[in-house]
Amino acid sequence: MQIIRDCPACGWDNWILAEHCAQCGRNLDLIEQIARRWQKTTQQRLEERRTGMAAIKDREERASQQRLAEFLELERQRQEALAQARQIQRQHEQQIYKWLAVAVAAVVFVMIVVLLISVGGS
Ligand SMILES: [Zn+2]
Repeated sequence: MQIIRDCPACGWDNWILAEHCAQCGRNLDLIEQIARRWQKTTQQRLEERRTGMAAIKDREERASQQRLAEFLELERQRQEALAQARQIQRQHEQQIYKWLAVAVAAVVFVMIVVLLISVGGS
């Protein structure tokens, strides 16, 4: 139990039931003192709530940044896979063109041979 209370004017520690400050003589209003204390705790509560909310906001901010980083990483991997797929397809196409060229050359060669044989035969 508190048996002293400080003077609101000079801060002197007075006995709890003293009506006037022993230091400066100010009238010690108990109700005023209680009101002051209540105001202080209310301010503290508000302050704690503010810092608590700031912490939650900070956490959410970090979480959203992490989500964004993960998304960007996934997107990067997706782009990489796409590029790889395009590269493989290009290689396949080049191979097909090569074989096509070989086939065309073979057909032309056969046609020339057939032509020469038919010319020589007649
Ligand atoms: Zn005083």
